[in-house]
Amino acid sequence: MLRLRELRAWYGRIQALFDVSLSLDPGECLALVGTNGSGKTTIVRSLLGLIRTEGEIRLDGQDLSRIATHQRVRRHRIGVVHEGRGLFLRMSVLENILVGRPAGERSRVDTALALFPALANRLHQPAGLLSGGEQQMVALARAVVLQPRVLLLDEPTLGLAPVVIEEIYGYLAKLRETGLTMLLVEQSVRRASAFADRLCLIRSGRSVMTADGRNPAAEAELVRLAFAEADRPDERGGDER
Ligand code: ATP
Repeated sequence: MLRLRELRAWYGRIQALFDVSLSLDPGECLALVGTNGSGKTTIVRSLLGLIRTEGEIRLDGQDLSRIATHQRVRRHRIGVVHEGRGLFLRMSVLENILVGRPAGERSRVDTALALFPALANRLHQPAGLLSGGEQQMVALARAVVLQPRVLLLDEPTLGLAPVVIEEIYGYLAKLRETGLTMLLVEQSVRRASAFADRLCLIRSGRSVMTADGRNPAAEAELVRLAFAEADRPDERGGDER
């Protein structure tokens, strides 16, 4: 369904992705794991067309790599929950969920809210008054209203307490039961392995290993590789062009 081949990406003149190849089947959850600065968020930005890329980005065979961000989101329905949630804290929960959505999509709000009943009584409160976990639910509900073909989740539990992390993963599991295809960025290999169908290790801007979830041996190898010496000449970042 989603396929990246030899993806490279740049922040200005600094190259951040060197060679990322991965694929996602319909209904599958693939987790991107890797140490800080390895390039996970950059893959999300590349998929959205927020930075300059080369290489293939295909959704159901269609090449998206030269398409503008708003078209990737609107026409091709790539949903995203950004790291840090990206809410407007003074706007109400409902306004946050509806922001940027055309009138025709408003009827979908009820469906999205059915997945997050805890928000039902908070719809008219400013999002800034909600707890971190509740704010994450708002970000998820907003993404669900788009009816995404693929949902990008960039560290959806960052900064949350363990019990809230469990709760958010409970909601993600519910979303998954709806058949949603997910690309999840997750710092914790253990959590990624418990949730995702497959894990892809990103190191120094490269996809270096893919493994099945819930496989302790593969998980251990992935952790070993993530922290293995990554400063080989062929993996040194910072190439300029
Ligand atoms: P983390 O887990 O800490 O969020 P990450 O794996 O998501 O890390 P990225 O944020 O994708 O890593 O960063 C990959 C590389 O790109 C890093 O070397 C980082 O310094 C660099 N980078 C990220 N954002 C920018 C930017 N706006 N300008 C220049 N370089 C950037």
